[in-house]
Amino acid sequence: MVRILCFGGVSRAAHRYSWELANGPIPLTDNPHDTCILHRCDNPPCVNPAHLWLGTHKENMQDKGKKGRAATVSGVTLNPPREVWKYDR
Ligand SMILES: [Zn+2]
Repeated sequence: MVRILCFGGVSRAAHRYSWELANGPIPLTDNPHDTCILHRCDNPPCVNPAHLWLGTHKENMQDKGKKGRAATVSGVTLNPPREVWKYDR
């Protein structure tokens, strides 16, 4: 769970604030929702700026995939066919 900080009535994700304290304002892009602060340590509550890096939503999804956190259907199995019990009379 990401930590949230509130200053002057404005709530921000703590890891984003931490990254900005260390590196300056998060650069503006054509799509501000595409700018992400990612965790090298894969620990969402972490705010250590040495563990944070600036990336895009796509990079965030790729990072999740590499770390095995991406939502996939792998590991899901269909119900195996049930064994049919027959009585021979
Ligand atoms: Zn960390």
